[in-house]
Amino acid sequence: MYKDLEKKVVVITGAAKGLGKAMAERFGKEKAHVVLNYHTENDDHKDIIKTIEAAGGKAAAIQGDVSKEADIKKLLSFAVDTFGTVDIMINNAGIENEVPSEKLTLEDWQRVIDVNLTGMFLASREAISYMLDHDIKGNIINMSSVHDRIPWPHFVHYAASKGGVKMMTETLALEYAPKGIRINNISPGAIDTPINAEKFNDPKAKQEVIDLIPMGYIGKPEQIAACAAWLASAESSYVTGLTLYADGGMTKYPGFQAGKG
Ligand code: NAD
Repeated sequence: MYKDLEKKVVVITGAAKGLGKAMAERFGKEKAHVVLNYHTENDDHKDIIKTIEAAGGKAAAIQGDVSKEADIKKLLSFAVDTFGTVDIMINNAGIENEVPSEKLTLEDWQRVIDVNLTGMFLASREAISYMLDHDIKGNIINMSSVHDRIPWPHFVHYAASKGGVKMMTETLALEYAPKGIRINNISPGAIDTPINAEKFNDPKAKQEVIDLIPMGYIGKPEQIAACAAWLASAESSYVTGLTLYADGGMTKYPGFQAGKG
């Protein structure tokens, strides 16, 4: 636990399930004030709010589509109206779908770029603007993926969006370091969340993924939430522009593990 996170106002996008939910609950344990953005999960966020409050934090939720500028502005205003400020912005919402690239429609390409990259830019811009206006040495955390460096056939739009998130994070980190705003990236490997449910319900497909992970198991959402808590806390106060690979070693060329090559 990080004492300095108590009463910090944390905004998390896509917070009703998966990694967003795990982070919301972790910040609840930190006794932070958590603003959950949810997209379509009308009821799922209510239990998360109860869990956060039971842990000693505070929470409120608002619906919104991160790819819409008006919804992002509403999200930030809601956080300020409800809890008084914004200290930490976590851009987590993301989508993917599998399509061979020669069949990928412009609509599919655009939707993934809009949610995964433009959505994270819009929320970063709004949060940074608020922090500059109110002299807040805040914190922004973007959820990228190992596919910001591992090419991923059939997911070219996803890989392109995450590569964009990584470079956006580094550029913004450089731009706002003099103002004390830290901007970092978490790049998870394969984590057990609803985005992977179909794949991990198939034992063969699941084993194929495990074979790509030197540590030999699928990650848990809480392990990613722990990275977010550390990056948001003062314990990482000299860290900005980092891409933190939380991937059980997936980006370290697992094919070479047994001295091959
Ligand atoms: P998930 O599908 O379980 O959750 C994604 C959340 O984003 C959902 O709550 C969904 O409603 C929300 N969302 C989707 N479109 C939205 C929109 N337009 N506006 C607002 N919210 C929207 O997925 P997850 O595994 O929790 O993934 C969270 C993030 O982590 C994503 O950015 C994903 O790319 C990234 N990631 C996940 C993994 C993994 O293995 N789970 C690995 C690498 C990166």
